[in-house]
Amino acid sequence: MGAPFNTNGDVDVELACLDLEGVLVPEIWIAFAERTGIEELKATTRDIPDYNVLMRQRLEILAANNLTINDIQEVIATLAPLPGAREFIDWLRERFQVIILSDTFYEFSQPLMRQLGWPTLFCHRLVTDAAGKVIDYKLRQEDPKRASVRALHSLNYRVLAAGDSYNDTTMLSEADVGFLIHAPQNVIDEFPQFRAVDTLDELRGAFAEASERDIAL
Ligand SMILES: [Mg+2]
Repeated sequence: MGAPFNTNGDVDVELACLDLEGVLVPEIWIAFAERTGIEELKATTRDIPDYNVLMRQRLEILAANNLTINDIQEVIATLAPLPGAREFIDWLRERFQVIILSDTFYEFSQPLMRQLGWPTLFCHRLVTDAAGKVIDYKLRQEDPKRASVRALHSLNYRVLAAGDSYNDTTMLSEADVGFLIHAPQNVIDEFPQFRAVDTLDELRGAFAEASERDIAL
């Protein structure tokens, strides 16, 4: 087995940008909906492509049910990454510089990121009041995943990316190569320009093939 990085100087280090929920960990809001029995909280970016509309709806439902940030964090603390996700991330980080680009919130992510070995995470913030009521959210910027890939390109990195849903498609477009993984059929049909894979093992192969370097599987 060769060294993960090609050291001949001809090709550069590459970045791998990954979505989090639906790719490496379960959908946090769906897990929370199942635990609380509130069906309307099961909507995700797969159902409502406009993230602001979706988040406003979630905050209204939390308020109507008197649910706090602590209630959500208690559920998240019981979640585990998807099978094979930790091994996949470890494999990827030996071969690429990995950044998770997520529409989750730092207030949610900690227990899951711990289980993934603390990869770099770019995401948003929730605003809570003294009683723990979630009163607002702060998106990092407009179209954050695309903006992140653009910024990384401005640093002269080649970017490979993978995600599962509508909120990933601008990231996949902006990246040099983009893949769908675990995507629902409607997303696969609407975005045939992105190769769709079903498993993290397949994604490993897809990243290796798309790399300009000689990647050992
Ligand atoms: Mg996702």
